[in-house]
Amino acid sequence: MSEAPLDLVIVGAGFSGLAMAIRARQAGFDRLLVLEKAAGVGGTWRENTYPGAACDVPSQLYSLSFAPKSDWSRLFAPQPEIEAYLEGLVAAHGLAPFLRLETCVTRAVFDAEAGLWRVETDRGVVSARVLVGAMGALHHPALPRLPGLERFSGKAFHSATWDHSCDLRAKRVGVIGTGASAVQFVPEIVGRVAHLTQFQRSAPWILPRGDRPTGRGFQWLMRIAPLRRLHRASLFWRREVAALAGFTRVSRVTALAEAWSRRHLAASIADPALRRQLTPDYRLGCKRVLLSDDYYPALARPNASLVTAPIREVLPHGIVTADGAEHPLDMLIFATGFAPGGSVVRTEVIGRDGLSLLQAWKQGADAFRGVSVAGFPNFFLLLGPNTGLGHNSVLLMVEAQVAHVLGALKRLRDQPGGVLEVRPEAQARFRAEVDARMQDSIWTQGGCGSWYLDRAGRNRTLWPGTVGDYVRGTERMRVEDYRLTDPPGLCPGPTKGLVLSKP
Ligand code: NAP
Repeated sequence: MSEAPLDLVIVGAGFSGLAMAIRARQAGFDRLLVLEKAAGVGGTWRENTYPGAACDVPSQLYSLSFAPKSDWSRLFAPQPEIEAYLEGLVAAHGLAPFLRLETCVTRAVFDAEAGLWRVETDRGVVSARVLVGAMGALHHPALPRLPGLERFSGKAFHSATWDHSCDLRAKRVGVIGTGASAVQFVPEIVGRVAHLTQFQRSAPWILPRGDRPTGRGFQWLMRIAPLRRLHRASLFWRREVAALAGFTRVSRVTALAEAWSRRHLAASIADPALRRQLTPDYRLGCKRVLLSDDYYPALARPNASLVTAPIREVLPHGIVTADGAEHPLDMLIFATGFAPGGSVVRTEVIGRDGLSLLQAWKQGADAFRGVSVAGFPNFFLLLGPNTGLGHNSVLLMVEAQVAHVLGALKRLRDQPGGVLEVRPEAQARFRAEVDARMQDSIWTQGGCGSWYLDRAGRNRTLWPGTVGDYVRGTERMRVEDYRLTDPPGLCPGPTKGLVLSKP
């Protein structure tokens, strides 16, 4: 694929991979490739095309600080617009020659002798000094193992692989799952189907969304850079203050937000029994807080019903719940989320001394600042463990990580052939900091189980502090946290003052 070793190979052309590529090129690293298994860029914003897909962070904040866009059509941009924004980044920053689409990385091995990553793909091998995993965390749909599912005679698909050829009209549709995806597509489809049965395992906390078209006046104002920055800062600080005030712990903020959510529920649902079923039995923030103005009204429609009894089995034409009730269905839509860890845990990544990432993570995913892993020199992750957010735009975390990797790239540029590996003690220190902050966090004290937690109940998904805290500790790569060595192929020791005698 490429003969001479590159400076950098980035795996994944979603938000984080593209941000990394743009920043690297701006810093003068032109010898790079972005490998992407799909036929286009966009990652999650290319894959998730379900009706109503949109971001749940305002677009002026859910966009890259160095690639502003003034004319987002709505406060919360819909998926096609976000995908177009990402495609626009490729054009605006001349990334096309650096992209290798439909190229799936099968294995990446660190060659310690050469100080290079050998990245194996289904189109050949490429070598690079630095490897960046930008493969996203929420990619592989999680499908529940329901008894009898294979016997279901109608169409069944996951929200992330929406079957647009499926005509929903006049169908009895069952939706399993009540997370961020379901609350977006249920209101979109309920008007089209004959009947919608929403199967709920746990009720989500939902706050008003307040989405609306931005309008020409607002878009014009957003063209004025200081105003746009001010608006972005106000969106950021509102969320940051919520975190500082206690949003990530069981606190007064929790109680206030719960009261707000209950009022929101009461405003849409008149039936007290349905209201009770839709009231969560855990503290707000323990699972992702959802934003929606139309999910509750959708469930209040005469052609919708909420089923809270656990699913017992799937029949060819419906679902039987634990209370013995039979729910006739023509179609099933799984809104059951994703297998945590994303693609990086499914790709063979072999670091120093033959250590695989899976072995290194057998107790759970762990990375210094979510970015680097001891035993994996010159390897960096974007959106790695403990860098997700429940309260603010995750792209702020991505930008800090990109800056960290750039720091590493610059350090390596100053030391040709050098190898950077995070010190195990720095990684352990970060782990201890995360674990200590997690102890009284809403995710462990909020009385719920969630995909944020691993089997041992440890949160390896979210950052337990403010964005400011994370950015301050991450964006500047401190070389003290790393071991910087020459590859074994090079002669060690000082060369200054050495006089070579002529033969
Ligand atoms: P999710 O939030 O993980 O929700 C999955 C839902 O499926 C939950 O209600 C869960 O119930 C239910 N479920 C899972 N397994 C089940 C089973 N075996 N039986 C019955 N119910 C089951 O998934 P998602 O809605 O796809 O969202 C995933 C993540 O994607 C979000 O947290 C968010 O980070 C991201 N997302 C973002 C946006 C956005 O606007 N930016 C939009 C969509 C998604 P329990 O709660 O009881 O586990």
